[in-house]
Amino acid sequence: MKIIVCVKIIGGELNPFDECALEEALRIPGAEVTMLSMCPPTAKEKLLTLTRLGARKAILLCDPVFAGSDTLATAYILSEQIKRMEYDLILCGRQTTDGDTAQVGPCLATMLGIGLVTNVMKIRGVDETIECTTRLGEESARLPALLTVERINNLRFPSIRSKMGEVEILNNQALGADPARCGLHGSPTRVLKTFENTSGRRKCKWIKPEELKKVLESLPKEKQKVSVAESPVKLKSLWAIGREVAEKGKLLADEVILISDTTNVDPYALAERAKKEKPSVILWNADLLGRRNAPILSALLQTGLCADCTALETDGEKLFMYRPAKSGNIIAKIECATLPQMATVRIETPSDDIIVSGGKGVAGQFDRLKEFAATLGAEVCASRALVDAGIAPYEMQVGLTGKNVSPRVYIAVGISGAVRHTCAIENAGTVIAVNPDKDAPIFDSADYGILANFEEIEL
Ligand SMILES: Cc1cc2nc3c(=O)[nH]c(=O)nc-3n(C[C@H](O)[C@H](O)[C@H](O)COP(=O)(O)OP(=O)(O)OC[C@H]3O[C@@H](n4cnc5c(N)ncnc54)[C@H](O)[C@@H]3O)c2cc1C
Repeated sequence: MKIIVCVKIIGGELNPFDECALEEALRIPGAEVTMLSMCPPTAKEKLLTLTRLGARKAILLCDPVFAGSDTLATAYILSEQIKRMEYDLILCGRQTTDGDTAQVGPCLATMLGIGLVTNVMKIRGVDETIECTTRLGEESARLPALLTVERINNLRFPSIRSKMGEVEILNNQALGADPARCGLHGSPTRVLKTFENTSGRRKCKWIKPEELKKVLESLPKEKQKVSVAESPVKLKSLWAIGREVAEKGKLLADEVILISDTTNVDPYALAERAKKEKPSVILWNADLLGRRNAPILSALLQTGLCADCTALETDGEKLFMYRPAKSGNIIAKIECATLPQMATVRIETPSDDIIVSGGKGVAGQFDRLKEFAATLGAEVCASRALVDAGIAPYEMQVGLTGKNVSPRVYIAVGISGAVRHTCAIENAGTVIAVNPDKDAPIFDSADYGILANFEEIEL
């Protein structure tokens, strides 16, 4: 079986989700694996070492004309190369940790006109069709197909006797892609400015371990709704896919047309309708289905899409989209030069009332943490450190490469507060942190701080 694995090298390292895609490909019996990457020439060394794992070859698409490509341009460039290759299956990581959009995979499958299965947790069988367990349930697709893979395994190490494979570097003269669809100039979405992400910052009030229960009882039983300002000038109308985003749309436009929920939208039928009715703006819930179908529509309509927006603004014509980037460290203000202007928007997903989340600090006490959670009727989650240590399952991971949560109360125990964790708890109602280290950054994202070891918290 011929398998292409799309990989991105970020800061000299392989994108964590692509590690899992590569490992899944190498585990398929009889697989002939080729890595495909669009990166600067510096990526060559890393690709060369990766060929020792069993991928016979890597192709590096490298040309100044590719620089600054957004997801649509990136998918276009990769598709131009893939159209010249033989393959049965394409594997991509769910997302990259610098872009965090999860858009290239669905865009690419649409441009190639092949089957798509996203958010894969397990490949159960592959023959003429591929059977998968995904975060959305059991799914399958006829080959050729493209899968986007979650962080579900650990990449193997090279065996001592393994040999280096080959890295073929192709520039655009060799590829022959249309420069008008590549790089910064070929990208419909544009970053207008960036600034430091302070959205998760909170004023921390110190309390004693014995005060925890009283504080929990004193918190409002309903999560306080985040009020979004009504836009002074409004768009004439916009399309919304998802009831939650339609509510947000009412603050931006005089007329909001609710197309459907994300659960039963067919992006192909929607593309035909959009070509006729020409909406200027389409907003999607940034849930798993929205993050899968919106990129399909962006490829079908050849228009830009901004992912996971936390804020929106308009001047009556243009939609200005704000989203976290660079692993949540910054906020970028983005516009789209083509119509319709599209965005997936972070929404309040129905979340648990209380979440108790454990980090490396409680690695040896995870059972006690679960007991503690049970006394509060709380859901248990974890940091990546605990998942990587094999103590908590990936489904529990909160963070950039895990899940976003927005409970009424989030209790972080033994978690230091890395931005790749806290970027996913910004929508929590109240954050309480338990940690003996007063300098732990988690206290900058907490409303209440308990300077103690978990052992001092009574169950
Ligand atoms: C590309 C990439 C993606 C990532 N994605 C994620 C992600 O999705 N989610 C995520 O969480 N991380 C993610 N990370 C990792 C992240 O950067 C941090 O390394 C990780 O969150 C740290 O986990 P931690 O806080 O549990 O562990 P540590 O940073 O080791 O902190 C442990 C804390 O426990 C405290 N402690 C020690 N003993 C006790 C005790 N007895 N009781 C209470 N507290 C105690 C310590 O003071 C310390 O603050 C990612 C990293 C990368 C590079």
